[in-house]
Amino acid sequence: MFGTRIIVVGAGIGGLAAALALKARGADVTVLEQANAIEEVGAGIQVSPNGAAVLGALGLGADFERASVRGRAVVLSDYRRPGEVVRLDLMRHAGDQRYAFVHRADLIDLLAEAVRRAGVNVRLLQKVDRIDPGSPPVLHMCNGAHLTADLVVGADGLHSRARAALNGAGKPFFTGQVAWRATVPNMVNLPDEAHVFMAPGRHLVCYPLRGGSLVNLVAVQERADWTAESWSQSDDPANLRAAFADFGGLPAALLAQVSAPGLWGLFRHPVAETWHRGRVTLVGDAAHPTLPFMAQGANMALEDAWVLADELGKAPGIELGLAAYQARRQARARRVIAAANSNAWKYHLRSPLRGPAHLALSLGGRLAPARMVRQFDWLYRHDVTMGA
Ligand SMILES: Cc1cc2nc3c(=O)[nH]c(=O)nc-3n(C[C@H](O)[C@H](O)[C@H](O)COP(=O)(O)OP(=O)(O)OC[C@H]3O[C@@H](n4cnc5c(N)ncnc54)[C@H](O)[C@@H]3O)c2cc1C
Repeated sequence: MFGTRIIVVGAGIGGLAAALALKARGADVTVLEQANAIEEVGAGIQVSPNGAAVLGALGLGADFERASVRGRAVVLSDYRRPGEVVRLDLMRHAGDQRYAFVHRADLIDLLAEAVRRAGVNVRLLQKVDRIDPGSPPVLHMCNGAHLTADLVVGADGLHSRARAALNGAGKPFFTGQVAWRATVPNMVNLPDEAHVFMAPGRHLVCYPLRGGSLVNLVAVQERADWTAESWSQSDDPANLRAAFADFGGLPAALLAQVSAPGLWGLFRHPVAETWHRGRVTLVGDAAHPTLPFMAQGANMALEDAWVLADELGKAPGIELGLAAYQARRQARARRVIAAANSNAWKYHLRSPLRGPAHLALSLGGRLAPARMVRQFDWLYRHDVTMGA
């Protein structure tokens, strides 16, 4: 790959990680980002061992450890009953696997810094309007310029131009769920654990960030009306508090502090059929946006980035490398996204299923705690840096 000219569209987690991995294999990499800064936007992200393995292999393991909080447990509770339905003790049952909570902006900062140190050219205020996936591919920029490269990597997220160029217009559909997200000061001394509070038609997740000084909140509600699919829409905190007004205890204390929540509508997108054509390919949300219920958006983008560089590094030609990349990634992306799609309802059960389901969870946690923690080994122990 030495000297191959690569343009990565998008400086999110997927784009920056791909830039770093490709640069490490000798490519000449430019990142184009539409925003005027790689700045602090978003809230918490969970990085599971499969994502952390990539950060480690990119040489960022120690920095990431400093920037993140190690999750010690996942605790599920009922929104009204005191006590816990089940506690999954990650320190006891996850072996050496590290689950971490990090602010999205801190992870982006860490990657952006590494990308610049590595000599990748990052260009801001560069919005791509359209991509022709010919040979060579042509990027039509919103400012009227045209750019070409030996390879274009579309890491341009949810509303990807690269995906549209390869797959046509998508048809996402509203899931009937919206999610608020916010960070608040950790006035409640939340320990290094993820807590999930389950209620009919709703659930609320919280975990600490930034050395435990902040708490990340995600509150999901089923609702019939449509909300725009955007990461940058804000809402009146009174709406969030009203939707969760019957939650007591810890959630109520956290919700009382929220001042400017983001609100996004949760949409389902099929995994892209075509991940490459000519010399254009997709990584991360551009290929497979996911619902947040397995917390895999950032992790899957990291996995993609590594595998793309790995396969291009091994293949005798770019097109063959892209084919090998899709072959190694697409089925796994489908499986992870399907798992996320089917997870939400489990937290939102109504009577009469609710009581028995919580009882089963509680029994499982008491009788086979290790099995409950290890049930997703296929997801979290998948290490792409070892060739998986
Ligand atoms: C602003 C923002 C806030 C987020 N907040 C959260 C959060 O709080 N919690 C959470 O779990 N996940 C959040 N996410 C999603 C999460 O970061 C992603 O699911 C995951 O990291 C995969 O990232 P990605 O790199 O594939 O895509 P993204 O993170 O979406 O990155 C895509 C990048 O491409 C750029 N871009 C898009 N179109 C163009 C174009 N035409 N030309 C040039 N550049 C373009 C975007 O500005 C963005 O920087 C957020 C994403 C964004 C963009």
